[in-house]
Amino acid sequence: MNVRVRFAPSPTGFVHVGGLRTALFNYLFARQQQGKFILRIEDTDQSRFVEGAVENLIAVFDWLGLSFDEGPHVGGDFGPYVQSERLEIYRRHCERLLAAGQAYRCFCRPDELETMRAEQTKRSMVPMYDRRCRKLDAGISRHRSEDGESCVIRLAVPLTGTISFSDLVRGDILFRADAIDDQVLLKSDGFPTYHLANVVDDHLMQVTHVIRGEEWLSSTPKHILLYQSFGWDVPAFAHLPLLLNPDRSKLSKRSADVTVEAYRDEGILPDVLLNFVALLGWHPKDEREIFSLMDLVKEFDLARVGKAGAVFDIMKLRWLNSEYLKRESDEKFYENIRPIYFEYTGEPKPRFSSIIEQYGESRLQFGTMSLRAGAGTYEEVAERVLNIFSPVGKPEPESLERLSDDNARDLLVRLHDGLAAIPAEEWEDFEAIGERFKEVCKRAGNEVGVKGKELWQAVRAGLTGRLHGPELAKLIAIWGRERVLHELNQAIRH
Ligand code: GLU
Repeated sequence: MNVRVRFAPSPTGFVHVGGLRTALFNYLFARQQQGKFILRIEDTDQSRFVEGAVENLIAVFDWLGLSFDEGPHVGGDFGPYVQSERLEIYRRHCERLLAAGQAYRCFCRPDELETMRAEQTKRSMVPMYDRRCRKLDAGISRHRSEDGESCVIRLAVPLTGTISFSDLVRGDILFRADAIDDQVLLKSDGFPTYHLANVVDDHLMQVTHVIRGEEWLSSTPKHILLYQSFGWDVPAFAHLPLLLNPDRSKLSKRSADVTVEAYRDEGILPDVLLNFVALLGWHPKDEREIFSLMDLVKEFDLARVGKAGAVFDIMKLRWLNSEYLKRESDEKFYENIRPIYFEYTGEPKPRFSSIIEQYGESRLQFGTMSLRAGAGTYEEVAERVLNIFSPVGKPEPESLERLSDDNARDLLVRLHDGLAAIPAEEWEDFEAIGERFKEVCKRAGNEVGVKGKELWQAVRAGLTGRLHGPELAKLIAIWGRERVLHELNQAIRH
């Protein structure tokens, strides 16, 4: 079988993490079955049209490194891949059902439908179209429409019987036909509904497996009825479990960011997001948690996708990101963080320009490497870098206290003079200068009779006005000679 699957988003302006999970599972399935992965834009709901949404979606998938085999941006033999460019196709197919008596025109006005719904609700019935137009004579119905009366086209759903199918995730599923509404296929403005367009396209695009979120499960019997009405083969279905907040409510904006763009902008790596999203509902054979996209293609198995809702745990996403960052070499790490510091033109970004001008890129790079440990994102490291280069600010009271005796002043003076005596070129060797600095500190400490914790706290207080902070040997290497001597002078003067 030539596997063909599709991701069929309605372009709303951003990519939902649930949408990404659907797209990824389709992608993985296609890649491991040597099938095709198609992008189809379902934009028939004109009220939800958002300018630039498709371009944004394509850019997000480029960033993620998930490529489509067919779609509006890459073409293919089954286009157009944008539903609003296929209206004629849907209309033609709807005509076919109408001619065969499997669909009918409904002239009920919105206010009539509203009254119907209200009455049904009052009588504790599930609101459903009462099918009054289904009884209209076909000839009369055609005349009314030709006379310009506004109408929709509905599917004539069987009044009895059942619709069953075997879902690849959820197993055997059965629906009673009498619980299914005579759904609208074509709206009065000539636009198809989701159901009609989705089924017609899945058939014409030869989609073999429909892999989508559980929220579409209740639409599936309607789709199966449509396939049957057209006399078409029904594709296989796999409905992926819902995404939940940690309190097991449906994933909402309130408890976490739900857009891929938000995580991208926050500095989560694309591979991390894919790794994380893959684990939302799919259970690997072993306890492994780190998977590259290539691993996923190899290991992913629809049979190991569970029915139970998958909890979207933001802490786990952050943890995964820090695991990925930890594994990067210093070179790779710097290459990836550099766009936070510099424009693509090579100009420093405003937030970093004064640091780069004053300290130079090699110190910025050394600072980055020194501060990367344990960080969750590149942004976090960039913040640490900004912090370490900024002015130290007002000293903390405990720090002033620590430096209040004559001994401390004496120590800082000796330290200053000892460091000033180190030739400037030695300060350019960032590793060696740290060791030299420690020697000078110990010597000065010996001379005034302080050592150990007491010594290091005094040195730190003198340099930064704080009793805690980054490793001193690294700090002075990052700052360089001028800044170190300047801070010591300030402290001595105080
Ligand atoms: N356009 C639907 C969506 O926005 C597609 C659902 C399906 O895959 O059938 O998710």
